[in-house]
Amino acid sequence: MLDAGQRRTYEDGELVFAEGDAGDVAYLLDDGAVEVFTGSGDQRTVFATLGPGEIVGEMALIDTRPRSASVRAIGTTKLTVISREGLSDRLESVDPMVQLVLHSMLGRFRVAMHRVRSGEEEPAPRRVPEAEALPNAPVNEALRHGVLQQSRMEARLRDAIAADALELHYQPIVKLPLGKPVGYEALVRWPVADGGVISPAEFIPLAEQTSLILELDAWVIRRACMDFMAQGRRLAGQYVSVNLSGRQFAQPTAYDLIESTLQSTGLPPERLQIELTEGVVMSDPDHAAELLAELQKLGISIAIDDFGTGYSSLAYLHTFSADVLKLDLSFAREVRKGPSGARIVRGISAMADELGLRVVAEGIEADAEGRQLYKLGCGWGQGFGYARPQPLAQLLDDSEA
Ligand code: C2E
Ligand code: MG
Ligand code: MG
Repeated sequence: MLDAGQRRTYEDGELVFAEGDAGDVAYLLDDGAVEVFTGSGDQRTVFATLGPGEIVGEMALIDTRPRSASVRAIGTTKLTVISREGLSDRLESVDPMVQLVLHSMLGRFRVAMHRVRSGEEEPAPRRVPEAEALPNAPVNEALRHGVLQQSRMEARLRDAIAADALELHYQPIVKLPLGKPVGYEALVRWPVADGGVISPAEFIPLAEQTSLILELDAWVIRRACMDFMAQGRRLAGQYVSVNLSGRQFAQPTAYDLIESTLQSTGLPPERLQIELTEGVVMSDPDHAAELLAELQKLGISIAIDDFGTGYSSLAYLHTFSADVLKLDLSFAREVRKGPSGARIVRGISAMADELGLRVVAEGIEADAEGRQLYKLGCGWGQGFGYARPQPLAQLLDDSEA
């Protein structure tokens, strides 16, 4: 088997591969040329001559069928090997819809080639058997199912946003050690017909694959600001914290969206906090630094969410300005387990303090945990131990009862 990245030289007329061979690599042409053909001797039909920069044998990267044509060098030719494994790893991270389209296109292409070769001029009236049209049938069945589910959910989510059918729940962010609320994180919920609720962990990743996330984020910010304004003096001095997706953050209109929402709803900027994950900030640090500075100039505070799940590095934190570090809930879990978790939290809190960041520990499930995290340097906390996310009115009624 050839290794990916390996460079190979072929002399004039030498075969790179032959029709019917098992293939698991493609070739990138660095230098020279190749001829793609079928048959042999007098029966040879040349399909194409390819030159530097082109790719040959690429169908083997997507399915496992034998080579459908032969390829030979014209003059001295240099090729670089690309492996199926290399592509499969990348394909797995590609949206299922793109994968399905790719597999379907290749399947149809193979069928069309088969017809041309066998002299069939008109498309055959029969339905092409699935296994013939789509060579990796089991993979495709799973893909097709996934794509169908995804498309249906996408359409329902689009309708839900348009119909204002999503809801916001709120979870208090409290001052430790006593647990008095200072703000509330807005967490979106999607109620469905059977009385249940779909968790954002399920539909946010889906929305993020499409532009739906932009509408969703815009809806959430607006609704959160409106909910807070509607409470009047009841929430005086407290803030609302809104999660912003990477896609929304990367939009050139992100600043305008936030500013105009504050203006139209009347919420003072000091009462709004935006939560961004480390990954979002680090995917374009220059853009992040600029946008965060502008938002802070407006008076909004910035929290780095789920700290510790991505880059887990304090080294970059001084390169842009944030106000709050939200320690991922896995840290509270580690502290529950034993002293090494506690040491890590103490270390991160000390560094954050040096950088002027307030530390909020997420996922506190009991009062005693909150007190322990406070001793380790977390000034604020959030978790089921104080309150589960719920509608704002219910949360406030409970706390006043
Ligand atoms: P997140 O921003 O880190 O939100 C905290 C998550 O931890 C919430 O899950 C919350 O219910 C959960 N949680 C809070 N306290 C505890 C605890 O003590 N123990 C445990 N085990 N979990 C706790 P939720 O609501 O399912 O949200 C999941 C994620 O979905 C959020 O993580 C956030 O990344 C995203 N998300 C939620 N709402 C929105 C939204 O409006 N817009 C965007 N873009 N993302 C959102
Ligand atoms: Mg959050
Ligand atoms: Mg979080």
